[in-house]
Amino acid sequence: MGKKTKLMMLGPPGAGKGTQAQRLASRMGIPQISTGDMLRAAKKSGSEMGKKAAEYMDKGHLVPDQVVIGIVEESLKSPDVADGFILDGFPRTVEQAEALDSLGIKLDAVLNIQVDEDVLVKRLGGRRACLTCGATYHVEHNPSKEEDICDKCGSETIQRDDDKPEAIRTRMGAYRGKTAPLIEFYRERGRLYDFDGAQSPDEVTAAIMSVIEE
Ligand code: AMP
Repeated sequence: MGKKTKLMMLGPPGAGKGTQAQRLASRMGIPQISTGDMLRAAKKSGSEMGKKAAEYMDKGHLVPDQVVIGIVEESLKSPDVADGFILDGFPRTVEQAEALDSLGIKLDAVLNIQVDEDVLVKRLGGRRACLTCGATYHVEHNPSKEEDICDKCGSETIQRDDDKPEAIRTRMGAYRGKTAPLIEFYRERGRLYDFDGAQSPDEVTAAIMSVIEE
């Protein structure tokens, strides 16, 4: 089989999906389609859709399927995705996965990053994010060079509202109830690859690259 280029990241919040998707996108020269980043951009722009989405996001709830499916459908129409793409944070429900199927999109690989919940809670609580370029940091494990300033673009880094303790618990619940069933959904289709997300980011990237290039 040739190189896999239609990819999807799957895993609980804090597993490292965004970090890995960014790395794969730059190594492979294909776009990262992050619904979380797109929804945060909509929130920042103050659009009606952004305001509505923010009501769900800030509390840690999933944004309704129809909204998210609409956004992804638009992105997948772009000529940029002709050579492949990395879906990061979508699909997150069985309904969204079925919508992807009905768009005629057949994924080459679903990259499932697994990490224990207590590790995730620590990771998310210490996470800082740049809302301008999407880079993420961790106050202990991966701090920015200057406190609260993004290394990549110089903007301020913040703690996302949904990385606060109450919202983290809600997000974990949404993952267990709505997103985790996708593991079996894609395993049955024979396209699921598991990775141990407790490893270092470099180790996870190396393991993913060996699957993609096999
Ligand atoms: P993320 O950056 O992927 O953790 O996404 C942040 C938040 O955006 C999530 O907690 C949800 O509120 C919302 N979101 C992102 N992707 C989706 C999706 N596929 N379906 C529903 N909500 C989503």
